[in-house]
Amino acid sequence: MIIKISNLSEGVHKFIFAEAVENIGLVEDFTGNIKADVELSKAPSQIILKVNLSVMAKFVCDRCALDIMPILTNSYKMVYLYGSPPEENDSLNLVYIHTDTDRINISSDVRDYAILAIPMKKLCKEDCKGLCYKCGQNLNERECGCTQSVDIRWQPLLEIKKKLDNIN
Ligand SMILES: [Zn+2]
Ligand SMILES: [Zn+2]
Repeated sequence: MIIKISNLSEGVHKFIFAEAVENIGLVEDFTGNIKADVELSKAPSQIILKVNLSVMAKFVCDRCALDIMPILTNSYKMVYLYGSPPEENDSLNLVYIHTDTDRINISSDVRDYAILAIPMKKLCKEDCKGLCYKCGQNLNERECGCTQSVDIRWQPLLEIKKKLDNIN
């Protein structure tokens, strides 16, 4: 995903990239092509990129182990400033480029933002009921009829409740 900037006129330019996920180093969790819509604004002293990306992920549901392939999206903005960097540059979205830089490679940024789009919880649906811990039945498909005994960790609390109920 390389943008040639050497002969670009000032103003706004749009680019669309589509690249196989493996080509930008996304080997795990992703499949197919990653798409990046880029809006580039060029001014005399800087170039600003706004990037919207979308990519198909390949997960297993954390609760029911179903294979899922959600489309993940993310966006970011990056400023490329002509000039040499100051002593300390800890701004993540600011890159200094030389006046004779002729191309910008956005592959690694696109890869990083795709990885950031991976959700903490990977669920086939928000209210996935998961699997019965006794018989393994997928509870989204049907109830299994196992007696759902109380989690042993709640037992002390239930004892307290029983006592309180007796007092009342
Ligand atoms: Zn699920
Ligand atoms: Zn069951």
